[in-house]
Amino acid sequence: MTIDPSKLRPATRLVQGGVRRTAYGETAEALFLTSGYVYDDAEQAEATFQGTVEHYQYSRFGNPTLTMLEDRLCLVEGAEACRTTATGMAAVNAALLAHLKAGDRVVASRALFGSCHWIVSTLLPKFGIESVFVDGGNLAQWRDALSKPTNLVLLETPSNPMLDIVDLPAVAELAHAAGAIVVVDNVFATPLLQQPLTMGADVVVYSCTKHIDGQGRVLGGAILAGRKWINDVLQPFIRNTGPAMSPFNAWILLKGLETLALRVDAGCRAAETIAEFLASQAGVTRVWYPTRSDHPQQALAMKQMSAGGTVVTFEVAGGKDGAFRVMNGFELIAVSNNLGDSKSLATHPATTTHSKIGEAERVKLGISDGVIRLSVGLEDPEDLKDDLRRGLAAMNLAKAA
Ligand SMILES: *Cc1c(COP(=O)(O)O)cnc(C)c1O
Repeated sequence: MTIDPSKLRPATRLVQGGVRRTAYGETAEALFLTSGYVYDDAEQAEATFQGTVEHYQYSRFGNPTLTMLEDRLCLVEGAEACRTTATGMAAVNAALLAHLKAGDRVVASRALFGSCHWIVSTLLPKFGIESVFVDGGNLAQWRDALSKPTNLVLLETPSNPMLDIVDLPAVAELAHAAGAIVVVDNVFATPLLQQPLTMGADVVVYSCTKHIDGQGRVLGGAILAGRKWINDVLQPFIRNTGPAMSPFNAWILLKGLETLALRVDAGCRAAETIAEFLASQAGVTRVWYPTRSDHPQQALAMKQMSAGGTVVTFEVAGGKDGAFRVMNGFELIAVSNNLGDSKSLATHPATTTHSKIGEAERVKLGISDGVIRLSVGLEDPEDLKDDLRRGLAAMNLAKAA
């Protein structure tokens, strides 16, 4: 490409960003399924290892298909540098362990994805790293926790599954004053709806498994940040510990990015409609969606995000029994623990994704037994409403009987 890619508009970056064509002039991105590389001669191999010549060495450190994905993700996020990993959890783990050492201190919002919560609460303390949790929506708690020197802040906004919003610029300011870098898990917002690096975050992590693939095929993760941190802090960790993504998965994710804007846009519009529909249904006691007027942080959500996302969380009457009847009454919406898929998926967090954190922690997060997380897919929203009616009817009939 002869145009400066940073001058391109977002939709164009998703399709054309990072493309490197080989001598064959292929239209689609080439899939380099190779573990290693060969050199013209021994001198070139030596120069490569000395860093005086740029040449791929080994796919644990770099691969042209991964480079295309990383360059495209940088353009979409507006980041200087990116590294991809085999899963979203490998990305979170690498970002934290590459930066931290024994004696350091981490402050995190309590409402984290289950495995992120485990890393902060269980893994880090094993290596002598202190971890503190706060209610992400409560600035006074952030201020209090960050009144001591701190090395890293980890947060997720909107959070899973209750869609709490964290005030990114305010928390970033407190974190930086305490000496911490800010790592944001931006899965729920996707790079299209929210750009944390423009609001004070230092590192953004993704599970590419969710919307970036978006079609339920592969696992993947990404870490985006400034070039210096990626090269000096992250790259040695990745190179030597080996969480590398498969080139095949990178190729799938490049194709996923091409339709990301279309899918996220359709998913957000459907999710808004469905949130409105659910709020009017008998048996639904509460609906959470970031940009709705009944969301306690609507103003903040609208300031930080260009749309509310593709997940709607709602609570039904009758606790676990009620929620199970609703989910078992669906014909189209599948019971799953995944999200961000073209197929609509319903999750009962209390007994699946958030079962291991325990009842006391669930109460703090507001995850009651009647809560259902709905990841809205690409089906016709009218068919989804019909299916929600089916599920709710199954519950309401059981209640009346
Ligand atoms: C799914 C998810 C992860 C973990 O990603 P994997 O690709 O499953 O390892 C981390 N954070 C959030 C918010 C997620 O939804």
